[in-house]
Amino acid sequence: MQIKEIIEATNGQLLSGDMEYDVNGFTQDTRKIESGNMYIPLVGENADGHQYIAQAFNLGASSIITAHKVHYPDKNVILVKDTLQAMSDMAKYLRMHRQVKVVGITGSVGKTSTKDMIYSVVSTKYKTLKTLGNYNNHIGLPLTILRLQNEEVMILEMGMNHLGEIEHLTQIALPDVAAITNIGTAHIGELGSREKILQAKMEIVNGLKSDGTLVINDDNDMLHTVNAENYHMIRVGQNEDCDLKAIDVELRLEDSYFDIDYQGQRYHVHVPVSGEHFVYNALIAIAIGLSLDIDMNLCIAGVEHFELTKNRMDMIELKDNIKVIDGTYNANLDSMKSSLAVLAQYPKRKIAVLADMLELGEYEQALHEEVGSYVVEKNIDELLCVGEASCYIVEKAQSLGLKNAYHFEDNQALMTYLDEMLEPEDTILIKGSNGMHLKEVVEHLKERV
Ligand code: ATP
Ligand code: MG
Repeated sequence: MQIKEIIEATNGQLLSGDMEYDVNGFTQDTRKIESGNMYIPLVGENADGHQYIAQAFNLGASSIITAHKVHYPDKNVILVKDTLQAMSDMAKYLRMHRQVKVVGITGSVGKTSTKDMIYSVVSTKYKTLKTLGNYNNHIGLPLTILRLQNEEVMILEMGMNHLGEIEHLTQIALPDVAAITNIGTAHIGELGSREKILQAKMEIVNGLKSDGTLVINDDNDMLHTVNAENYHMIRVGQNEDCDLKAIDVELRLEDSYFDIDYQGQRYHVHVPVSGEHFVYNALIAIAIGLSLDIDMNLCIAGVEHFELTKNRMDMIELKDNIKVIDGTYNANLDSMKSSLAVLAQYPKRKIAVLADMLELGEYEQALHEEVGSYVVEKNIDELLCVGEASCYIVEKAQSLGLKNAYHFEDNQALMTYLDEMLEPEDTILIKGSNGMHLKEVVEHLKERV
């Protein structure tokens, strides 16, 4: 992006530098500066990036935007009102002035996994850029767009925890294709109801191009109620109304198979990861591939070559054929259930180590109890919980007849118990919100000799 474009995009003022200079990359983090980059000083809760401007130049930055007048006569320095706003403005400008198709993805759960699946499909045909990791908010999304070089498609994850956030992101990204994975209960404490969550996710269509496509998981009760008005809609799922319908779904320990019924034809799909939720993620990815003119067989090949982003559901093999399913990255009702469903497929003893799902507000008790019921429904053999709210999981499971349901004071007590009870061939799912630090239980188990 040239300095003159940045000035146009941000309505900024050139304090020094060369209008024709072409900035080769952007970062808000001085540790990531590469020679020629523009440094974007953001103002955070604890630190103000403007403090590090001199350091940024020392590290090789060629250019900055800044909200304060600074004097670096041999560098490109652009004065703007607000650096965060300016960063969004640059991203939006770049999105509008480059030939690139944008795919936006939101949903209560499965955004990152689906984004990665979409990438596998879309990159079979196009040079593709995707959100790295979980860079899905008002900072991560513009930074992702600013990484654009000569890619033909950008896949952008959009996260939210209150109304208006997706609106903000979609107005920067202006997607050609939007997808909603599902409407669950994540952040319900903040939003108040599932209707409000639907409303928040549906904000994505406000930025959708007028001839754009919306892809939804139609088996989700809330999304099923959505009607297309100003855009083309593709419904995916297993029910009769779906445009892309999965049939004969066969879920196995390590992978899944299903057929797609699409426009009167049947196509066979292999998904190289386990879990029914990945059938949906694959359907969404294929629908998006089709809407970008990728041949169905190529879409299916893309799904087949999918690689999972680390830490979503890592499978770790310990000695004695003990398996650990690491779901410690985060947890909400939907991901708890999908992970328990995966655990349930294992043949020998199945142990669920669960901790609290955070940020549920007044729904805390009901949703933890729902997990407890699901543990029993899925015939999990042992339930081990830590965390205050997890008491509800244990109590519910006990009330439904699960004898081996225990609650522990802290992770340490839990680990001591695990050390004593583990047997060869056990499979252990470890899952809870990030703040519950279950990662240390995984690390502890890895040390087993
Ligand atoms: P975040 O809000 O943290 O960005 P996310 O929406 O990106 O989360 P993922 O990181 O993709 O979600 O997945 C979180 C968990 O949910 C993982 O354990 C994953 O296996 C599981 N999961 C993935 N896809 C789905 C789905 N479609 N439905 C339910 N669970 C899913
Ligand atoms: Mg994510």
